[in-house]
Amino acid sequence: MEQDIYTGKCLIDNIWQSNSDKNFDSINPYSNKVIWEGFIANNTDVDMAISAARASLKKWASLEVTERQVYIEKFINILKKNKDYIAEVISREMGKPFWESKSEVDAMIAKYDISVKAYHERTGLKETRGAVSSKLIHKPHGVLAVFGPFNFPGHLPNGHIIPALLAGNTIVFKPSELTPLTGEVLGKLWVEVGLPKGVLNIVQGDASTGKLLIEHDDINGVLFTGSYNTGLIINKGLANKVDKILALEMGGNNPLIISNTKDLKGAVYNTIVSAFITSGQRCTCARRLIVPDNSFGDDFIELLIKAIKNIKIGDPFDKNEPFMGTVISKDSKNNLLNYFKQAVDMGADPLVNLESLNNENALISPGILDISNIKDINKLDKEHFGPILSIKRYNEFDEAINIANNTNYGLSAGLISDEREEFDKFLFEIKAGIVNWNRPTTGASSAMPFGGIGFSGNHRPSAYYAADYCAYPVASMMSDKNTLPDSLMPGISF
Ligand code: NAD
Repeated sequence: MEQDIYTGKCLIDNIWQSNSDKNFDSINPYSNKVIWEGFIANNTDVDMAISAARASLKKWASLEVTERQVYIEKFINILKKNKDYIAEVISREMGKPFWESKSEVDAMIAKYDISVKAYHERTGLKETRGAVSSKLIHKPHGVLAVFGPFNFPGHLPNGHIIPALLAGNTIVFKPSELTPLTGEVLGKLWVEVGLPKGVLNIVQGDASTGKLLIEHDDINGVLFTGSYNTGLIINKGLANKVDKILALEMGGNNPLIISNTKDLKGAVYNTIVSAFITSGQRCTCARRLIVPDNSFGDDFIELLIKAIKNIKIGDPFDKNEPFMGTVISKDSKNNLLNYFKQAVDMGADPLVNLESLNNENALISPGILDISNIKDINKLDKEHFGPILSIKRYNEFDEAINIANNTNYGLSAGLISDEREEFDKFLFEIKAGIVNWNRPTTGASSAMPFGGIGFSGNHRPSAYYAADYCAYPVASMMSDKNTLPDSLMPGISF
């Protein structure tokens, strides 16, 4: 494929086109250079994209799944061939280290096999034969709007798109306005594999474009990954449209409990990966660290602070691979710095200061707050999407679980402990959809469902269970012949 020749337009019917004169751009958060310029899709663009998806639906849905698979397999092959280039685009556009973006592309590639397996297992054909036979099939919803977040601009939209296409839906995809170049590159790959026109369309733009998509009468549903605030707006927007499928994958205020463990370094390592991978910009990142209020807890915190100061942060393409690149933008950096200061003003103790590392770009170092003395902890129950970890001390394990559950969110939760009984209790009592033991909170298997409760999701988990929200079941009872039964229901006679 041609590298980095972009159009800045929407993809409609496999043609890059735009009817808008409103611009926006994408800025590399490390170099601060503009890497993409384009148009904010307007009403006409959105309307045309949805019409294109609608027009292609019947033919696409009527293909055998194996026929649809052929296109998706071609897409996966082309991803494999262009892995380094796509990873490079992701790192340039959102600032995460190149090694991490390569693992994002690997996850996109792996999505295919998992989705095919899940399609058959969760939504496959089921039949019984007898005097009365039964048959269960699943049908696509129709035209689905897919919303992507910036932090995994390839993997997360892909996690909706592949299962949705497999199931026979057609799509209008809106990439995050912070990562439109990645969106356009993916669109080019789909065109290159010869996906029939209209099956996958892309509209670029900000919340205004998103709003047009949500409000359009001719979509059959929305598959959304993004923040709680946006998810809530979309949920309200569809509140009186019970006929639309809505899958919301949102944020978290995720707890990590440190309990008894002999391996202090292991606990510190798991904490760092939980809280600071992707510069704290994963929905599953630990935000709240719950630590025993004793000398073991003191030793743990001391080692954590030491290790945090050693974290390598810098150029995503540095040959000596940093652990953290930038956050998504200078605006995001400034918001995080403001929040950190605000929390300190409220009484939090800054154990490690959150610091801007370069005034010209979005590099920021991790910060740690001890919030044990803040009385009104509920005020802090918001997701701050960056490398900030808040510590709260506890005395009894029950108290630790109560603190962990004291949130409106419920995405991921973790426990570091050498005791199996503690994990069993934690697993039973914790309110979250991803519950890990002696593993980072950010670890999740794509071969399992992925989603949360509360403000984190609307009970339509993604990953392995994405198949469930991409199709609806149709159950039939069947007899070969139309006959009068031997025994009739009471009150019917001839
Ligand atoms: P965001 O909510 O700002 O944006 C997501 C998408 O929604 C973008 O395409 C955006 O343009 C669109 N949008 C924004 N406002 C809109 C509106 N009013 N109407 C319609 N569309 C609108 O999210 P983000 O900042 O790109 O991503 C980070 C968030 O995503 C974090 O909260 C993170 O926790 C969450 N996230 C969740 C998961 C998960 O699977 N649960 C995974 C990754 C990220």
